[in-house]
Amino acid sequence: MTSLSNATADYRARDAAHHIHPFSDMKSLNAEGSRVIVRGEGAWIWDSDGNRILDGMSGLWCVNIGHGRPEIAAAIQRQMAEISYYNTFFKTTHPPAVALAEALARLSPPQFNHVFFCGSGSEANDTVIRMVRHYWATLGKPKKTVLIARKNAYHGSTMGGGSLGGMAPIHSQGGLPIPGIHHIAQPYWFGEGGEATPEEFGIQAARELETAIEELGEENIAAFVAEPIQGAGGVIIPPASYWPEIARILRGREILLVADEVITGFGRTGNWFGSQTFGIEADLMPIAKGLSSGYLPIGGVMVSDKVADVLIGPGGEFHHGFTYSAHPLTAAAALENLRIIEEEKLVDRVRDDIGPYLQKLWLALGDHPLVGEARMTGLMGALELVPNKPSRAHAFPDTGKVGTIARDFSFRNGLVMRAVRDSLILAPPLTLTHEEADILAATAKKTLDDTLAEVK
Ligand code: PLP
Repeated sequence: MTSLSNATADYRARDAAHHIHPFSDMKSLNAEGSRVIVRGEGAWIWDSDGNRILDGMSGLWCVNIGHGRPEIAAAIQRQMAEISYYNTFFKTTHPPAVALAEALARLSPPQFNHVFFCGSGSEANDTVIRMVRHYWATLGKPKKTVLIARKNAYHGSTMGGGSLGGMAPIHSQGGLPIPGIHHIAQPYWFGEGGEATPEEFGIQAARELETAIEELGEENIAAFVAEPIQGAGGVIIPPASYWPEIARILRGREILLVADEVITGFGRTGNWFGSQTFGIEADLMPIAKGLSSGYLPIGGVMVSDKVADVLIGPGGEFHHGFTYSAHPLTAAAALENLRIIEEEKLVDRVRDDIGPYLQKLWLALGDHPLVGEARMTGLMGALELVPNKPSRAHAFPDTGKVGTIARDFSFRNGLVMRAVRDSLILAPPLTLTHEEADILAATAKKTLDDTLAEVK
């Protein structure tokens, strides 16, 4: 590592003086100084001291096609030369909105032929809350308003998204959750499965949905909302029994299924959508992040024919929308991003090539004395750090401390991984090469060794 440059010190001082960061402890951030990232290319980023770091988190799970793609810049510039902004309210549209909606209908599972655009994953989930309630009210069932979601889920940090999510620190501020949201167990076998096998635990966790439906009354429930794999919660890959049991419980019931694909969409799990990886037949799919690979902010809700038929016909006008719904520049960037994913066959690559290649290296880290479990689906993985290897207990005193130590070692060693409690999580760009995967695995191994030496 090079020493701290004057430029870095200057950025840090000015940042500390004026910038309140999302999800950051500002007191310690200001004492330590922020990390200043100045450039990105492919799977790599550079900080303001010139250090090159492998971006194992694709920014924030979003840069699926890798950083610095000139094709996206050119697409944005081409659209700018036509018109930079116009809205899609009041029966108006524009060419990028038309083309993007059409492309999404083609690429999504067959029941999805419509999309409602917004600016982010949080807005997509807020849209879901209003849309499912409007759907049932239109069908003459206005009492069906409750949304069931899961503990430790993440669906954004607006009032709606933060409420649907099941994270205690978010609920502890700002009066969340809003009424009408009910949380059930997450299918987190490693942390909460006790003596049950993963398969038994998957069924057990899914059956909490059945119990909640019985307790709350089907006549009051609008939807069940869940991520195919919980991302921010710690890359919680459900046991194989979980999603089929959810499908069994919902079969024949009047409850909409919402698969939040904000992270799992656009190739991350080795299919276009995580729903396809797990055999989920959703009625709505919030999308964002990989939709534009984060080049510009855009989100949306994929709407199935079942819901669209009600919204478009008897539903009348949906009194909902955002100034930047289908913003022309973001839509043009997303369209070009989808073109790249298709042309470079990135989804197939994750399923058949780089996915299996990295999984093998990653799962081998499970042999490390500090790792209780290594898991990965597609290019989404986690390492559970434990003090007493054969046991799955999260027995480190002061939960999160060891995870943070490991995360900081990783960054210093040249790899971005994120810490969730005492686990390390990973979601690199889908363009990762085999050579980069080798570097990633070797750096993760060094990080585990460094962490073990520090904490033992
Ligand atoms: N849903 C899921 C599953 C997410 O992981 C996130 C963000 O990480 C969101 C929704 C919120 O998206 P945004 O940060 O774009 O509002």
